[in-house]
Amino acid sequence: MSEETKDIKTEEVIEEEAVIKDIKLPGSLSVRDLATLMEASPIEVIKVLMANGVMANINQTIDFDAAAVVASEMGYEASLDTVDQLEAEDVGEIPLWKRMIANEDEKDLKPRAPVVTILGHVDHGKTTLLDAIRQASVVSEEAGGITQHIGAYQAKHNDRLITFLDTPGHAAFTAMRSRGAQGADVVILVVAADDGVMPQTKEALAHAKAAQVPIVVALNKIDKENANPELVKKQLADNGLVPDDWDGDTIVVPVSAKQKTGLEDLLEAILLVADNVEIMANPDGIVIGTVIEAERDPSRGVVATLLVQNGTLNVGDVLVLGTSHGKLRAMFDFYGNAIESAGPSTPISVLGLKEVPAAGDPFRVVDSEKDARSIVAERKDKQKAEKSKSIKPLTLESMFDAFQAGEVRELRLIVKADVQGSLEPIVSSLEEMSATDKEGQIGVHILQAGTGNISENDIALAAASKAVVMGFNVEADGSAQKAAEREGIAIRLYNIIYRLTEDVEKALKGMLQPEERETIIGKAEVRAIFKSTRLGKIAGCKVVEGEVRRNAFVRVLRNGKEIYSGAISSLKHDKDDVKDVREGFECGINLKDYDDIQEGDILEAFIVELVAAA
Ligand code: GDP
Repeated sequence: MSEETKDIKTEEVIEEEAVIKDIKLPGSLSVRDLATLMEASPIEVIKVLMANGVMANINQTIDFDAAAVVASEMGYEASLDTVDQLEAEDVGEIPLWKRMIANEDEKDLKPRAPVVTILGHVDHGKTTLLDAIRQASVVSEEAGGITQHIGAYQAKHNDRLITFLDTPGHAAFTAMRSRGAQGADVVILVVAADDGVMPQTKEALAHAKAAQVPIVVALNKIDKENANPELVKKQLADNGLVPDDWDGDTIVVPVSAKQKTGLEDLLEAILLVADNVEIMANPDGIVIGTVIEAERDPSRGVVATLLVQNGTLNVGDVLVLGTSHGKLRAMFDFYGNAIESAGPSTPISVLGLKEVPAAGDPFRVVDSEKDARSIVAERKDKQKAEKSKSIKPLTLESMFDAFQAGEVRELRLIVKADVQGSLEPIVSSLEEMSATDKEGQIGVHILQAGTGNISENDIALAAASKAVVMGFNVEADGSAQKAAEREGIAIRLYNIIYRLTEDVEKALKGMLQPEERETIIGKAEVRAIFKSTRLGKIAGCKVVEGEVRRNAFVRVLRNGKEIYSGAISSLKHDKDDVKDVREGFECGINLKDYDDIQEGDILEAFIVELVAAA
């Protein structure tokens, strides 16, 4: 008996010693926060870090790996916070929310309303169709049926809700197209029956496929006299969307958004497709979703439309949305009614954010405003670092590099020309080029070809799809130029067709030579001339603007005219050889191969850089 008791006691002791507590940690956190989470003193944490070769102070941020080592030495088994873990995964175009839901325990999943987005070529009727569905099917008994335009709404069919993302009229929508497809469970691809499959139809199709979202085709404008549904069906089949009445898998619903016919069938088809893919979420799970649109309202502050995709969002929750954050002050449904909480697939507009988040940004709920601030600060730092790494604009040449590195399989172009007559030969010769180069698997992919000036929309499309914009006899609108600068998109303008095609050909062959670019870095005035037996004439100067560098070039300006340009052979400050001399300081400059410098000359220093031809 006593033997037994003793044994049990020993086991208990061992167990207690070996107790390892689980702890969930974010991707990075401060030493102080780690200490708080482990209920330990920060000094203790710093000591353990030091013992592991990491010198950190209490406010310093350490990454998960370092924190996990400390935690394990202090009796914890650390695991990465689920959202952080999912965010860190590299999974191409499968969005975070989908992975989040896949990560949930199956027994916690409940059905939710399917989220639908409408994509298609311009003028094929996306906006008209969204309006028609809204008028016909929005649950209208609440709030007198007056809906707010918040970028998303819910329609009802057979007593089931369907959430529509309602943003195609939005200028930023082109850029969002791929994200739109990512946010949705079903994509409605609108194709006008009188116009057929067009470049943006194909592009939308590509986005939907990449995001693995099923497609229902709305064959719109069926009321038109010149509608040719059979021809369009053939085009769809050619693009991998074989219509169901041709024994394929794609439901093609003839509709007229204008006359409001076929809408019920379309909603029916959406639910049918939705039922095949099991649309679920955990209403009690980690709260995560996507920003649909956002703006700053002069009186209400930042107003953002959000789509909750997992969990339930409540007023008072603290959110992180990309690099924006805030505590939810108020929440409204799409009728404009104030609500307290919103579950999966619910579109809402919210107040209380500090900054305007970007449409398409994922959002999540965090524990405190402090956490939110530190996540945002860290993301901003990361963005800054990445930006300085990649300021090189997307050029034909960098496209080619990416191409060779296997990052893109095609040279993507957006082509704009003044008239159809010039557009056609350009497009056909570019397309031929892709054909001749096919052996090397090099191809030109014209994402969009159209007439008119290069617009902001073209740039947005280029940014979303990593394309180069080429214009023939057109200009880029002011807003397009700004957007191109911001997004790092190259615009190439031509007025001779063969130059355009030649450049594309060169890019395809990786032959584009880098260009030399000159940047003026400073100016110096020659105040006196000295003679040196070894160096010859030395110009005693004062730097009046910028700086002069030893390895820079110099242009000698006399009475405003350039009389010589060449390299510097010596740069001195107080008899010392120096690398650079800044504005306000004096220096001695000696030029290589030039000995006729005079008092009063201006020396303009410049550097020459090789940049990828743009
Ligand atoms: P979006 O650019 O795809 O959003 O296209 P819109 O919804 O703005 O529609 C473009 C044009 O097509 C407008 O003039 C619409 O009135 C017209 N339209 C849209 N749907 C139909 C339709 O079913 N039948 C006809 N005849 N015209 C339509």
